[in-house]
Amino acid sequence: MSEKPKVTKPDSKPSSAHAQKPKSSGKPEDSPRITRAVELATSAHEGQLRRTGEPYIIHPLAVKKILEEWKMDEDTIIAGVLHDTVEDTSITLSDIEAEFGDSVAFLVDGVTKLSAVRKHMNDIDTYLPETKDNFLRLMIALGSDIRVLIIKLADRLHNARTLSALPPEKQKKIALETLEIFAPLADRLNMGRLRVELADLAFSYVDPKRFTYLKTLIEEQNKQASRALKQIEQEVSDILKKEKIDFEISGRIKSVYSLHKKLAKHNQNMGEIYDLTALRIIVPDITSCYLTLGLLHSLYTPMNERIKDYIAVPKQNGYQSLHTTVITKNKKIVEFQIRTREMHDYAERGLAASFYYNEQKLTENYKKGKIQHLPTNLLWITELQETAAKLKEGKKIDLKKLRLNLFADKIFVYTPKGDIIDLPKGSLPLDFAFRLHSEIGSHVIGVKINGKMSNLNRRLEQGDVVEILTSKSQTPKTSWLDKIFTSHARQKLRQLLPKS
Ligand code: MN
Repeated sequence: MSEKPKVTKPDSKPSSAHAQKPKSSGKPEDSPRITRAVELATSAHEGQLRRTGEPYIIHPLAVKKILEEWKMDEDTIIAGVLHDTVEDTSITLSDIEAEFGDSVAFLVDGVTKLSAVRKHMNDIDTYLPETKDNFLRLMIALGSDIRVLIIKLADRLHNARTLSALPPEKQKKIALETLEIFAPLADRLNMGRLRVELADLAFSYVDPKRFTYLKTLIEEQNKQASRALKQIEQEVSDILKKEKIDFEISGRIKSVYSLHKKLAKHNQNMGEIYDLTALRIIVPDITSCYLTLGLLHSLYTPMNERIKDYIAVPKQNGYQSLHTTVITKNKKIVEFQIRTREMHDYAERGLAASFYYNEQKLTENYKKGKIQHLPTNLLWITELQETAAKLKEGKKIDLKKLRLNLFADKIFVYTPKGDIIDLPKGSLPLDFAFRLHSEIGSHVIGVKINGKMSNLNRRLEQGDVVEILTSKSQTPKTSWLDKIFTSHARQKLRQLLPKS
């Protein structure tokens, strides 16, 4: 193991964006290099104001704080402090390189290029544009060191938090872009906490009425459920203590935007939403995760089709946890999420956490011409980097294909009512059917794709309108296992098949 990054002091609990800031004590001192960067940025932005009327330096300092919360390395934090200096002040890249080294200069340059690309774009449609030049520069900036993207996400988070200072038109534009580009990116990087905050902030500007309605709904449901949840928490705590499993248990509240999306998927039927409130249990190791799952199932009745083992089979972005939905003694339906501390940290901070755990030195590797080592679930980043390298060498690549590749393993198809369902690329009609509901999946007799009769072997394509034909007398068939692509549908089908 190489030495630890200097500023990322491990502590027992990951810091939380929602956590109360310690009053006077507990705030770590900035390192001399960071202190110097703050001085430099403060004097460089002197006299500049934000739209809110505050001194401009508030913004880079907020970005610094976010990057610290994500426990990023010192170079990234310094680059965050300086990220707007080259673009907006008299400080040059060579000034930065001379004082802070080429690593920091490299990161600031990347963020500057990224903003330069953005500046020439007038609206959301041009953000991932057909215009080759912008896109090429965007790719090169993004692909060369993923920390550039992390700084950009911190920048966007603070800008989203302060959106209210902008005129309404601009608010909506930035909010939409945040919802469509940055929140999905955060998701792809498994930065769960960031995704939730970005998406909910943005959604509150994109569709304020819907946002308020759903937010109130969630709060009311939580209020109603809170007493029952307390009791369940107590029962679970008792049994875990008895079995001598070390644990932390807490409530997890569903984000507004994910509820909005889930409702769209389930034809606005609240009865289909089982995870409005969930309890999260954090235990020391994987064995304890499965033990806890077993104990929960001995205590309550599990809803079989809602047991998900994302530890054995992680989500595409690397997310790991055990999920189970149970029916309690008082007939309450509760979802539990069980994970280790490391899995939790990774689910909340994602790529940022993987920097911390892997102690990666990205810029150095990149400059040596090495493609960075990343978790396999983030291979798309490697792909991006390889493409960026090809672009730099002047090799030709199909930009259109690359653009699609950014969100490659997903396709979006429609129900006849127009609801969007996202599925992994390669999915078949039965995957779609089981995704809608097991009841639909188990009674499939045929499928219409784009209004025409089709067959169950036909791979779904981006934009297809899929109509599942069902019959009450139909029963699930073993042969369907060959006509299924997703593990989700396979698991559901297996539960419905007669045990042989
Ligand atoms: Mn900025």
